[in-house]
Amino acid sequence: MIPASFRYAAPRSLDEAIDLLRSYEDAKVLAGGHSLLPLMKLRLANPPVIVDINRIPGLDYIREDGDKLRIGALVRHADLERSSLIRERYPLLYDTAGGIGDPLVRNRGTLAGAVAHGDPAADWPAALLAMEGQVVVVGSGGERVVPIDALYTGILTTSLHPDELVTEIRVPIPRERSGGAYEKLERKVGDYAVIAVGVQLWLNETGNIGLIGIGLCNAGPTSIKARDAERFLVSKPPAPDNFNEAARLAEAASDPIDDDRGPIDYKRAMVRELTRRALNRAFARARGATA
Ligand code: FAD
Repeated sequence: MIPASFRYAAPRSLDEAIDLLRSYEDAKVLAGGHSLLPLMKLRLANPPVIVDINRIPGLDYIREDGDKLRIGALVRHADLERSSLIRERYPLLYDTAGGIGDPLVRNRGTLAGAVAHGDPAADWPAALLAMEGQVVVVGSGGERVVPIDALYTGILTTSLHPDELVTEIRVPIPRERSGGAYEKLERKVGDYAVIAVGVQLWLNETGNIGLIGIGLCNAGPTSIKARDAERFLVSKPPAPDNFNEAARLAEAASDPIDDDRGPIDYKRAMVRELTRRALNRAFARARGATA
């Protein structure tokens, strides 16, 4: 199918983009187009105006600044996959970037677009929930910073206002003795996750778990932060029994649906198994492993 007709605008500044979003009800931002255009072709989305942000300069940076990594709204999945900074210092983000779709999707799709889209099957929200990410948004009311765990309100719905744009994603710079991992189960290469789990942890001076984040992908109507599992692990040794119990708690937090990627029991079992694997790999990386 082809999309319904729409007006196309290509603003050259954020102010111009916000003006357009404010002026036209139901206008939609276009970034990589790899989620929006399929919806338009299926006529599940029929925006009257498309605001293409690709010509706005200065939104394609990946840099550490203060205590945060900052990623601009036009950074593509492939930019993150190819970044030596991400590969060397953010293994959870590196794992995530390389597992999204196929090279065509990764070359165009953006991190910010995936975050704004709010698909519970998308990988980035789960990774950012594990890393305590923040979303910087600007609109006619000015700028605000939204913690990723306050962004999602339901399937494909977020707390973004219609005239707001995501301009930046932030994650804390990991401390010494930190490690992260993203474990994704796919039916075939290039597919969305059956289930995926992101883990970011920090070992304190005693070798126990000081901080931990666990995000679940495609395990419920929104991306899920496995809070009980996180709380259970804080101050505990990174021991197999503790990881098994945390994996059980992550499974209990999941609420997957039965669909062509598998039945509910199978998906819940995969949440448990992938949580265990991600915990083990994040722990090994916190101790210096590079794989
Ligand atoms: P767009 O499609 O341009 O926009 C998506 C939505 O976000 C729209 O509503 C748009 O208005 C809004 N939006 C975009 N940017 C902004 C912004 N800066 N501020 C406010 N709103 C904004 N994703 C995965 O996570 N894992 C996968 O395995 C995966 N596989 C895929 C396979 C295929 C074949 C395809 C086509 C897509 C796949 N995707 C997958 C989705 C892909 O990652 C998309 O790139 C991503 O979800 C959306 O990013 P985008 O830049 O393409 O956004």
